[in-house]
Amino acid sequence: MIYPWQQTLWHNWQQLLEQRRLHHAILLLAAKGSGRGVLARQLSKTVLCQNSQVEPCDVCHSCKLFDAENHPDFHVIKPEQDGKQIGVDAVRQCNRWAVETSHLNGQRVILIEHADALGEAGANAILKTLEEPPAGCQFILTAQSLDRLLPTVVSRCNKWRLNPPDEANVKNWVESQLQQSILLESVRLNNGAPLATLAFIESGLDIRYGHLVTAFTAFVQPPHIGIYDVAAMCSADGIVTLQLLSYFLVDCLKWQQGVTQYLVHQESLPAVEAIAATIPTALLLEQIRNINNLHRQLAKHTGLNIELLVVEWLTGFIGK
Ligand SMILES: [Zn+2]
Repeated sequence: MIYPWQQTLWHNWQQLLEQRRLHHAILLLAAKGSGRGVLARQLSKTVLCQNSQVEPCDVCHSCKLFDAENHPDFHVIKPEQDGKQIGVDAVRQCNRWAVETSHLNGQRVILIEHADALGEAGANAILKTLEEPPAGCQFILTAQSLDRLLPTVVSRCNKWRLNPPDEANVKNWVESQLQQSILLESVRLNNGAPLATLAFIESGLDIRYGHLVTAFTAFVQPPHIGIYDVAAMCSADGIVTLQLLSYFLVDCLKWQQGVTQYLVHQESLPAVEAIAATIPTALLLEQIRNINNLHRQLAKHTGLNIELLVVEWLTGFIGK
């Protein structure tokens, strides 16, 4: 199974598979929430399939094992936790898998998810294998973008970028999945990523975020009531809400500067306008910087008290 916006890339791969020209190390660059894991698994399953070269037959022993997540020749490594590096031990395990003989007399596939989390040591450990993998060994690496990938890794791979669908198509697709209409700002808050948008709405975060914007907008204006409610709302959904609030404040800043195109908060413009009219630009800038720092800090250290830190940040809006 693959998603509609993955078809073009998939057809390119299928052609290469048919001609037996697929590079032994594929690097798939795709945004979070675009289903890159699904696409990487589709390719893996196809490479391993015993009946077909261009798409999984779904009936052979290999396909069955793959679907049961029990394929002895399919190996995956990724960071143990979001934001953490892939351990060097895991990378060394890849080297061992690469030289193993196939259990099913076919290919082996090694999938490295979040390849941008390969640290320098990890990358060095895999470079030689990536460059000259043993026969019958297919590497697939996935990452969000080239930004955090080590050039030494990139240079040994064949790069493919999954272009996201335009936002109108994302909106249509999510609406067709949910059988309900959705706000354009839900798509923009998720950077246009279809699966992320779908999850945003299915989890009810869209509604809770709407409430947060209302409470936050009320708090920021004198007499600044409800600081603990806003902090509790942020804390309930975790650091993702800080990211969303940061987008909101950036919209307010843009509004102050007369930029009205491509604001994220299309359907919450009255709130954007209210804040833009209340907070001086310098304070807006400072608070955007502060919330981004806070977001980074909380992403790095999981033990911190988010509610307390958000209260401290919110205090920055009072009495200036
Ligand atoms: Zn098959």
